[in-house]
Amino acid sequence: MRKRRKKYNAAVAFIVVIMCMILWYLPSIAIAEPEGDFPDQDPDEWRLILVNKQHPIPNNYIFETGRIHNGLMVDERITGALDDMLSAAKEDGVLLLVISPYRSREKQQRLFDEKVSRSMRHGSSYLDAFRETAQAVTIPGSSEHEIGLAVDLTTKKHITLDAAYADSEGGIWLKEHCAEYGFILRYPEGKEDITGIEFEPWHFRYVGKETAAYIMEHDLTLEEYVGMLR
Ligand SMILES: [Zn+2]
Repeated sequence: MRKRRKKYNAAVAFIVVIMCMILWYLPSIAIAEPEGDFPDQDPDEWRLILVNKQHPIPNNYIFETGRIHNGLMVDERITGALDDMLSAAKEDGVLLLVISPYRSREKQQRLFDEKVSRSMRHGSSYLDAFRETAQAVTIPGSSEHEIGLAVDLTTKKHITLDAAYADSEGGIWLKEHCAEYGFILRYPEGKEDITGIEFEPWHFRYVGKETAAYIMEHDLTLEEYVGMLR
């Protein structure tokens, strides 16, 4: 009898220890905490606008489009930073191609619908096709391309937009230098459950230099950063 009780106590103690460990680690998993060099900025600044499935573009959101050196359009306020980044890459021998700059709502809708139709032609139900597409192509009204603050960048040497792009010269250069020009790798690997988007080593979003430096250094997403500001 006594022996059984001992066993029982040991099991309870073991469970308590495990529970304590889970509770101890939980906050660090769920909420990223700001560190010393945290640039405490106004979360309502245009640079920090959070656009994703849960935060569609506000109806009254307006901005001016401007053109970068090759004539492509983005938000006028980031043309200088983007041109500087492309020139710096070129100087380092990396010829970046802007393949997706600003995209109108109509264009985003068209891209989305086309991909849904393609999946359905391959036998998916509408619901499955929609779900699959939403992982790869942002739902219209929630794409950063529609607000002109994001660009997809690739190189002739690795033109396909796939995970392997991360290890190509374009992907490597961008990850290392994007923050110097105010850009972040918006959909990092391993953060898909936070961003809701698969790893996209070609999609870069402008947030300003200070914020970009913090986000890239601390391996964060914009969702996590904005969460810390609020
Ligand atoms: Zn993109």
